[in-house]
Amino acid sequence: MLTDQHGRRVNYLRLSVTERCNLRCLYCMPDKPLSWVPKENILSYEDLFLFVRAAIDEGIDKIRITGGEPTLRVGLDGFLKQITDYAPDIDLALTTNGLFMGEQAQRLADAGLKRVNISLDSLQRAVAGRIANRDVLGAVLEGIEASQAAGLKVKLNMVPMRGINDGEMIAILEWAMARDISLRYIEYMENSHANKHLKGVRSAEILEAVGARYRFEPVASADRSSAATLYQLENGYRFGVIEPHLEKFCENCNRIRLTAEGFLIPCLYFDEAMSIREKVRAGDVAGAVAVLRTVLANKPEKNRWSSDNQGSERAFYQTGG
Ligand code: SAM
Ligand code: SF4
Repeated sequence: MLTDQHGRRVNYLRLSVTERCNLRCLYCMPDKPLSWVPKENILSYEDLFLFVRAAIDEGIDKIRITGGEPTLRVGLDGFLKQITDYAPDIDLALTTNGLFMGEQAQRLADAGLKRVNISLDSLQRAVAGRIANRDVLGAVLEGIEASQAAGLKVKLNMVPMRGINDGEMIAILEWAMARDISLRYIEYMENSHANKHLKGVRSAEILEAVGARYRFEPVASADRSSAATLYQLENGYRFGVIEPHLEKFCENCNRIRLTAEGFLIPCLYFDEAMSIREKVRAGDVAGAVAVLRTVLANKPEKNRWSSDNQGSERAFYQTGG
């Protein structure tokens, strides 16, 4: 079993398979980075799997594949299959912008993917295009439909931004509810790579907007370490709010992150990271697990959005959000 220095059990690995992306979302990567990580620094699926297998042996039972845009990396289905062949009961999920799910959903489901979170920030073509810097809405909606048709459990992620899509918080909730898809509102997390003029909407305001239309109650999540605070409308529909600016957000944090180039990151906010790249490339799995334990021993108690709110230097497209 893996635990950190604050006694939190860590059983959830968020694994970024690429930092590259076909979109340029305002809150994440509005400009193409001056340089990408050189291809030779990216871990192969074989090397990633060596680490994943060891991490599963150590107690990881939930893995989320993310990026950048994970569906851009060729061979993702084969990698997922390797994981599920090794651990059939693993909770295997994907976070994606949905653009390629129209063509990939069935293949990924066949490879063992169980759940998918798809970003949907607007239902208006022009607004969605402005946020992603590309005309995306049609393909994303198609990707959502294909994911449901493939039997994947779908959730939607929305980052409300003031003056951009905050007027659509209810429209997206109702669109999701009509399709029996749960929605997660994510508070915008300040970071130095995002568009400088962005202003997020905090959870209190999100809940006020929902409350003006619907009565709802907080509900306990079956998963105590869930990042989202869950709410239920009178008709039983559930939605969540991810509120990293709240003091208590990190209390039950159960996750660790691995970047495509092999950096283990103990917290989305913090810059501290240690590489397992050379260890796995040398086949030194025990060495990589020792790095994992050291990173967990240094996992901070809290992120800093809840205290200084200065914004992180780390790019979301590298850590995988
Ligand atoms: N490309 C995929 C996608 O967009 O879903 C996966 C990677 S993306 C970094 C993962 C999640 O992080 C997305 O739901 C995205 O909305 C969210 N995200 C990115 N930057 C963010 C920010 N500054 N604040 C809050 N959420 C952010
Ligand atoms: Fe790409 Fe996802 Fe970042 Fe948007 S949020 S730029 S889709 S990695």
